[in-house]
Amino acid sequence: MPHLRQDAATKEWVIFAPERARRPEDMRKESLARSGWTHEHPHYDGNCPFCPGQEENTPGETLRYSNPDGSWQVRSCPNRYPALLPGPPPQRDGGRFERRMQGVGRHEVIIESPCHGTTLALQNPEEVNLVVQAWAERYRELRMGPEAEHVILFKNHGARGGTSLAHPHSQVVSLPVTPRTVRNRMEEAMRYHNDYGECVHCHMLWREKLDGRRLVVEGQTCSAFVPFAAASPYLMWIVPHRHSGCPSDLRPEEQEDFAAVLRETLARFYHGLGDPDYNLIFRTASRDYGTVPFAHWYAALIPRVTTPAGFEVGTGMYINTHLPEDDARYLRDFELPEWSVPGSASGGTCPEPP
Ligand SMILES: [Zn+2]
Ligand SMILES: [Zn+2]
Repeated sequence: MPHLRQDAATKEWVIFAPERARRPEDMRKESLARSGWTHEHPHYDGNCPFCPGQEENTPGETLRYSNPDGSWQVRSCPNRYPALLPGPPPQRDGGRFERRMQGVGRHEVIIESPCHGTTLALQNPEEVNLVVQAWAERYRELRMGPEAEHVILFKNHGARGGTSLAHPHSQVVSLPVTPRTVRNRMEEAMRYHNDYGECVHCHMLWREKLDGRRLVVEGQTCSAFVPFAAASPYLMWIVPHRHSGCPSDLRPEEQEDFAAVLRETLARFYHGLGDPDYNLIFRTASRDYGTVPFAHWYAALIPRVTTPAGFEVGTGMYINTHLPEDDARYLRDFELPEWSVPGSASGGTCPEPP
């Protein structure tokens, strides 16, 4: 018998129909048949604009973290095909029905490694920590822009995740408006705080840690779990324990711990689900809401194992064929290879520079 669950934070209802669930082994095989393992991709591609030696194709570098030998490890630059262009804060015009504004904003790419054929799940803890540091730094910088009402930080992995470039990278975009879903989430969080006097995510985190059935990775300063009303199979949230609206004020120990929890979570995805395509999205508060008592940032990890169709498009509701408790147990219990276990210092990265 299918049942419905409601997400306490978003108020969205999700239909659970576990009778139609596919076995993780089948999903793993399908994912591998589609795109293979990232670690089998070449370490260098002469046609890739993000590979070392192609830096002149990505001008206007905004960040560079170097290795002891002088080569770069992480860098960021403006997107070559930006959705928005820098400029002064735009004005709305066109009256009520033809409202428009100039497309002002900043759109940057963060190149996460010099190695073409790797991904965060395969990188060592220091490398992942540097990527998280770069995310926080660029997020903080773009958030200070006078045009920035909201900053979205995200990563697309694989074709179904929406990426056309295999080289590991993520993107950060500052927007001159607050997107509808961000506004809805903030309004619901504000309503919850108004009703119960506490932050919905602080409360949810406390419940999930107490219950434990949906927990996958528990860190010192953040935890990863499959939410009670997850909209799709293996969807996960990584929620910081300290209440904060955005990662601008991430402390060094929180950054390191977030990187470790993210790395382990992604390693469980990679090995347990056969390197699935996914989106990693930072759900953060809009400008001026970074320190309010109801806004709590987190990272949502959404494996692209299903495609939204007419029902989802028409209703905005999702049908999940997997129970969050089962998905969490599978990911939690999956035995990781030796080099991938938490605390392990090794990781698959470029054996030598090309
Ligand atoms: Zn490349
Ligand atoms: Zn909170």
